[in-house]
Amino acid sequence: MDKYMDKVLCACCRSVQSYSVLTEKKKRIWNGIECTYNRRYAVCDKCGNRVSVPGMDDLNETEFDNKCREEHDYILIDEINDILIRYDVEKRPLSLALGMGEHTIENYLKGQLPNKHYSDMLKRVLTNYRYMQELYSSNKDRINNHAAKKIESKLEFYNRINSHSSMIESVALYVLNSKYEITNLSLQKLLYYVEAFCQVLLQEKIYSNRCEAWTYGPVYPDIYEKYKTFGKEQILVDPVDLSKDIDEKYRKVIDYVLNLFAIYNGVTLKDFSHAEDPWKNAHAGYGEKEHCQEIITHEAITDYFTKINSKYDLSKEAGVKKYISSLGVI
Ligand SMILES: [Zn+2]
Repeated sequence: MDKYMDKVLCACCRSVQSYSVLTEKKKRIWNGIECTYNRRYAVCDKCGNRVSVPGMDDLNETEFDNKCREEHDYILIDEINDILIRYDVEKRPLSLALGMGEHTIENYLKGQLPNKHYSDMLKRVLTNYRYMQELYSSNKDRINNHAAKKIESKLEFYNRINSHSSMIESVALYVLNSKYEITNLSLQKLLYYVEAFCQVLLQEKIYSNRCEAWTYGPVYPDIYEKYKTFGKEQILVDPVDLSKDIDEKYRKVIDYVLNLFAIYNGVTLKDFSHAEDPWKNAHAGYGEKEHCQEIITHEAITDYFTKINSKYDLSKEAGVKKYISSLGVI
């Protein structure tokens, strides 16, 4: 309530008084549908009568609209704004790219409710770049070159970060589709632990991509490059079902690793890896901040974690936790 003024004029007391904000359940018809929402109102602290607070009606309206949209599964205005940002596109070219009238998106942003069909279409566009690509392809003749180039460059970008033609790319996407907030830094460490745990629990090499001992721990350069543009931010990819790309036995190991390691942020995971032989040995001779691309061999990973496994039993969560605390990082 900070955004309101502290005191307002009370018509009853005929003076400026402080007030309290309360809520009441209200039923209202919204686009032909009955909706219930919690409406805010204010009462004078002195006499208890209702007072009017500037800005509160607008807030009530916005919240009512959002609540109705959420309840009936319609796209929110904020989500339509997210679409504009996601595809780096203005209102008009977006309308055209989606096959709508040229002012349609503008009207939606002003509060007009899309019909269910268009609303569903917009929701899909927000979370599924392939669907956007489809719509864009059939409507691109309607859009000017400048706008088209910007959309295409975004589509190419999404195509790249959501592609998976190798096992490590599929595992990366699987990790990025998990419930955890993953950055490029944490992704690299998780891929490393997935490799290690597949060796230990399945005696199988899940991938054989080059792993290097960088300043910030083990890194798979191909995957690092792929998601570099996200910097230190969370990597966002489209939802995808990878059950056909990754065997169940591997998915079980990945889930196990995520459950035990993805709860830590990238910096903590980096510190874990700095306490482990595979990175330490490969990085030996380099200064703390010195650029290093020495290879961490798959054998080094296997040997180290096999040794750790016989000491801690990594097939048990308690064993993994014991091992983690033995690293002296947390
Ligand atoms: Zn009063």
